[in-house]
Amino acid sequence: MFWAGDRPAETLDTLRELGFRCGQIGIPGQLALDSRMTQDWKKALEQANFTVYTVFAAFEGESYADIPTVQRTVGFIPRVTREVRERRMLEVSDFAAHLSVPAIATHVGFIPEDTSHPDYFAVREMVRRVCDHAVSHQQTFALETGQERASVLLDFLLDVNRRNLGINFDPANMILYGTGDPIESLVVVGQHVVSVHCKDGDWPPPEVPGALGAERPLGQGSVDLKAFLAGLKKIGYKGPLTIERETHDKDQRLRDLKEGRQLLEELKES
Ligand code: MG
Repeated sequence: MFWAGDRPAETLDTLRELGFRCGQIGIPGQLALDSRMTQDWKKALEQANFTVYTVFAAFEGESYADIPTVQRTVGFIPRVTREVRERRMLEVSDFAAHLSVPAIATHVGFIPEDTSHPDYFAVREMVRRVCDHAVSHQQTFALETGQERASVLLDFLLDVNRRNLGINFDPANMILYGTGDPIESLVVVGQHVVSVHCKDGDWPPPEVPGALGAERPLGQGSVDLKAFLAGLKKIGYKGPLTIERETHDKDQRLRDLKEGRQLLEELKES
């Protein structure tokens, strides 16, 4: 998992040097998705022979500082940014279509557990509209796991009732947000998983209410990776294993991606 910027060739060179040939691309909220940016990425991906299979949308104004801040700022939930983020999501879908990428994804934010809440209805309708736009490009739209329990996400997905809606399963998020055992959660939403993040992290510190757990390099946190891979096999998942590492230290991130890749290869063989 890597982020788009205005130097696509350089970004892809770095990833190829680490041995990666495919991945998911994240689009920062402030990145202008104009025709030049689209053409530059299209050309660079073709030249590098690099396959992107999901375009992830992030939005301007999001903060992952702690759980209340995530609730207030992330995804489709905040009312004031809903319209602008819906337009952005459709733009990301169009960008993905130009790059011939078959899937888009995002964190929609905390889905309200109260299904009679106006925010629940509004977000459900918004997800339907995004799905209907994405289907015109033959794309799936994947919701990232973790900000709610797997059963809440599953009920929401069934309620949206769109065939191209799926789940990007991130086992670390279940732990970071304290929303459930990731391996048990994988079984709950299993048949809807279209892509995954291989990410690691620890549970939130119980002495700090509202705190998120700390993200860790793959293999160094509380995710039982072996059980996760076995769980993916069990649900019949055949897609790529995308390593996600969120640290802002670029060199550290690249080192962790490389080591994460080695670890996954070892685990797959064992
Ligand atoms: Mg993730």
